[in-house]
Amino acid sequence: MNIIDLHLHTTASDGQHSPRELAELARQNGNNLIAITDHDTIAGAAEAPSLSDETLTVIPGIELSASEYRQLHILGYNLNSADERLLSLCQSLKEGRDKRKYLLIDFLNSKSIDITLDEVEEIAKGEIIARPHFARAMVKRGDVKTTREAFDLYLDTDEFHKIERNKPTAAECISVIHNAGGVAVWAHPTRLDFDDFQISQLLKELIGWGIDGIESYYSTNTPEESLKYIRLAKKNSLFSTAGSDFHGKKVKPDISIGKWKFAILPFKL
Ligand code: AMP
Ligand code: MN
Ligand code: MN
Ligand code: MN
Repeated sequence: MNIIDLHLHTTASDGQHSPRELAELARQNGNNLIAITDHDTIAGAAEAPSLSDETLTVIPGIELSASEYRQLHILGYNLNSADERLLSLCQSLKEGRDKRKYLLIDFLNSKSIDITLDEVEEIAKGEIIARPHFARAMVKRGDVKTTREAFDLYLDTDEFHKIERNKPTAAECISVIHNAGGVAVWAHPTRLDFDDFQISQLLKELIGWGIDGIESYYSTNTPEESLKYIRLAKKNSLFSTAGSDFHGKKVKPDISIGKWKFAILPFKL
């Protein structure tokens, strides 16, 4: 039996733990198959081969945010981490984030939070600066009590969302992943808050663009929600994967590394 979790973040993006610490936590948790899926970078995932041993296989992955909807994310697995188109997309997304970080500081300053970029960059250890780094800096400074409060009051508000960063379309995400030899999976469909009709329309589009699988099991899904996506995947000849979206307790206190049992692996390693 494989004990899997195919959606994990590290310090290469907004996770708390380094790839090596994460692999150790997964071993302690009893996993034998995990994937490193950082936002917009394969810097952590590139360490996957050196973290794998006879007890644990670590797959290199990525999570890309698509431009169409706020929570439309595409996971890529088994990527060639030297692929040029993938690296060039990651580079352009990093540049977008580097532009946005100044706007984010200005935004928070305008809300009377006199946070500096240095305070955020002290927490961001990788090349990707993401909103959870700002949230953690705000907790550390005492501006808010929890990262959740930082998102609720500042970082996930309509006003915040006027600050844009460049994002590829879902079709572009899938195409880049395929071009790098990977498989593309629709991440956490339940996070979109769509009704059944909207989900089926979006799935049709994703299938047209070549999506290979759905993250049917997700840490915050109800059993009914997971079953719905398992059925949808089966009906459309897609595979189902399972992922927690673990970021570490300092980033997302409620989410632990998952322990989904898979007799057959969702895709070829
Ligand atoms: P970014 O890609 O920099 O815009 O940041 C997105 C990340 O922020 C997501 O991957 C989550 O880790 C986190 N995030 C987004 N919205 C929320 C929220 N409402 N509460 C907690 N974390 C969130
Ligand atoms: Mn994240
Ligand atoms: Mn996501
Ligand atoms: Mn994620």
